[in-house]
Amino acid sequence: DRPISALFAENRPLRSLEFFPPKDDAGVEALRQTATALKTIPWDFVSVTYGAGGTTRERTAQISRLLKDELGFTVMPHLTCVGHSRAELVALADQIYDGGFRNIMTLRGDPPKGATEFTVAPDGLRYANELVTLLKTRHPDFCLGVGGYPEKHPEAVSLEADLDALKRKVDAGAAFITTQLFFDNAIYHRFVDKCRAAGIIVPIVPGLMPVLSVKQVQRIATLSGSVLPAQLARRLEVAEVNPDVVEIIGIDWALTQIRDLLAHGAPGYHLYILNRAKSALALAAGLAA
Ligand code: FAD
Repeated sequence: DRPISALFAENRPLRSLEFFPPKDDAGVEALRQTATALKTIPWDFVSVTYGAGGTTRERTAQISRLLKDELGFTVMPHLTCVGHSRAELVALADQIYDGGFRNIMTLRGDPPKGATEFTVAPDGLRYANELVTLLKTRHPDFCLGVGGYPEKHPEAVSLEADLDALKRKVDAGAAFITTQLFFDNAIYHRFVDKCRAAGIIVPIVPGLMPVLSVKQVQRIATLSGSVLPAQLARRLEVAEVNPDVVEIIGIDWALTQIRDLLAHGAPGYHLYILNRAKSALALAAGLAA
């Protein structure tokens, strides 16, 4: 795979998608079909999340291979510190590298289901910047993305402290930042300004999630701490009687967000599509010149 940093260097907006690994073989088949349907659009890369534990971790590797080797996508697997010793992380880094992958989304990770707090694994890592250092030391040509939080990471004491943490990740060698989802572009624009003022100069890719259902958006907004703008909330309230209409509202809102982001120089957009093809295709079609 080409490093994503080489794609950014072409100075055009990159569009990318995020998949999550399904739990069972039927899910893998469904994902194969979704990804095949999405192949009609020349996405610049796709990413595959890394679960908090259990079997879906093996699936991240399986799905990453499927997307790269079978379907021809440039693939960025995610990797987290959760539950892994340094030695395991080094072994995983080698496995990813030997599989031909050159990009990794490098994260601390969320606590496993049931746990409320992140705990460091025996001989493990505490913060994502440490994983950036480990990966870059092991394979200097890895191109690493890291997470950024325009509305502050929920555990951070302040946005300033969180920006310090982000700067540490970039200083350790991260090539770009992908943001947590947000629904209000003003928040992203302010975040980018603050990053630049703090000396963070790498591309900051907006992460967006087209709303699929009212319940889902409420749950995700609570988890991520993202503000749901009053106008979007009102539209969803009116649309709620019909799930198809909710999806249309979600696509329309995301389309408006992306147009504004690209018009203001965002380096692309990354879509949290929850393994669904429809809204991603609708957005790509809506943006076609
Ligand atoms: P870090 O950057 O390590 O930050 C974690 C917290 O510690 C922050 O509050 C930060 O301010 C603070 N901090 C960092 N360094 C220091 C320091 N030196 N001293 C004091 N405080 C510090 N989760 C998954 O489990 N799997 C995934 O695949 C996944 N994909 C994601 C993709 C994106 C684009 C994003 C934005 C998030 C993703 N997440 C994923 C969620 C992520 O794992 C959580 O948000 C997690 O709680 C923090 O991860 P991080 O890498 O941002 O951590």
